[in-house]
Amino acid sequence: MECTNLMGCTFVNEYAADSKISMAVSGFMSSYCHGDKEAICVRKIIKQRLGPDKLPANMMPSGHHVSGTSTSDWADEIFPILEESGIYFQKI
Ligand code: SF4
Repeated sequence: MECTNLMGCTFVNEYAADSKISMAVSGFMSSYCHGDKEAICVRKIIKQRLGPDKLPANMMPSGHHVSGTSTSDWADEIFPILEESGIYFQKI
């Protein structure tokens, strides 16, 4: 099953061709976008709860930010939702 968000997924579109992270993106795509973790993709959860405009491109399917990027512009409403998934961190 393929995630219905795949064509417009800003994470995939922005990072799949980035040589620094493309191998990790490929792994995420296998396990999430085309795999059995699709239903627990935190990006999907955030999109469903807050809408696409508040979904940061640099959020990985696990809910963490791409290494070397910032969460400073992530909407405040994201963080309590992350905590519901057991992901605890602050804006950096
Ligand atoms: S990262 Fe998540 S939202 Fe994006 S295409 Fe993959 S499973 Fe769907």
